[in-house]
Amino acid sequence: MGERSRPDWARRVQATTRTIRDADVDALVVSNPQNVRYLSGFTGSTAWLVVSAGGARLLTDGRYSAFVRQQMAAGRQLTTALDVVELGYDKALGDVLASLTAKRVAFEAQTVTIAGLSRWQRLDAGIEWRPMDDIIEAQRLVKDAAEIESLREGGRRLAEVAAGLGRILAAGRTEIDVARAIDAAIERAGFERPAFETIVASGPNSAYPHARPTARPLASGDLVVLDFGGVLDGYCVDLTRMAAVGRIDSEARSLVAAVQEAQRAAIDAVRAGVTTASVDRAARSSLERRGLGAAFSHGTGHGLGLDVHEAPRISRAESGHVTTLGAGMVFTIEPGAYVEGVGGVRVEDDVLVTTDGCEVLTECSRELLVV
Ligand code: ZN
Ligand code: ZN
Repeated sequence: MGERSRPDWARRVQATTRTIRDADVDALVVSNPQNVRYLSGFTGSTAWLVVSAGGARLLTDGRYSAFVRQQMAAGRQLTTALDVVELGYDKALGDVLASLTAKRVAFEAQTVTIAGLSRWQRLDAGIEWRPMDDIIEAQRLVKDAAEIESLREGGRRLAEVAAGLGRILAAGRTEIDVARAIDAAIERAGFERPAFETIVASGPNSAYPHARPTARPLASGDLVVLDFGGVLDGYCVDLTRMAAVGRIDSEARSLVAAVQEAQRAAIDAVRAGVTTASVDRAARSSLERRGLGAAFSHGTGHGLGLDVHEAPRISRAESGHVTTLGAGMVFTIEPGAYVEGVGGVRVEDDVLVTTDGCEVLTECSRELLVV
């Protein structure tokens, strides 16, 4: 398997440059680590980017500077001006902004703390600080070619992990034990790490959407929710499948069928030009028709990318987060139904929006796995 394409960081920075020019600011300070990574390929813990009409400048400290130069020389990171921080990031930022004669400076209000902003305001009384949100997030919403390549490969590998679940699950094995075995399979599949704490929720625990694995052994008659993800090239993929231990009762069986049907309806509703709310509606109406509207206690899905939960949210119109889908968006479709005393069911796949529908990135059997 060859190495995947390198992201075109320079093109991403150009797009940001256009946005800040249109917003009439001289510079944008990017301090959200995932946004720094998106624009530059920097993967360490601390670096800031200052984007202005002239391009981007990367501020990082002595722990990373030699590595960054190496990565730039090898084309594994955006090639750009590097400012090595010696007397603290705030001081270095002040120097960079002064050299750019930036007077209107945007910052990421979701990331910068009030304490951080007040330190920046003391750097130069002549700078007007403008809170701006979602500049880079808006770019990250539509995946580019390199991102799609990583997500597609991640989806394929995660589907392979799912296809091996039959060898992991067994009556008597505890939830924690099963979760560890899934994590090991995620690692063997070549992922950098699990994307989140693997969920293995059996029997009564399955009725809680975000249950953490416990020492409970899987027992005959259990429904088991298996929700796990992996990170490849920094990109997260996320999948949920259902298992049953031996025979499950008819109520549990019909819950599984209802959620499978709702998931199918939502996947069928995905295409460029429709809204996130209409995809959510497809899943929700399907469950409502079976009297399970109240049992579906969360949104239908979430965006995937450098973060495991990012835009767009696939939720009800009333949530206030309505996005019109465009080709290149990637998100999960994961309706669920949770009934105390019966159990919980969730089925989750990752989809890539195309002009006339979607591509399921985690294609593998959605049938109940009976062990
Ligand atoms: Zn999940
Ligand atoms: Zn998810």
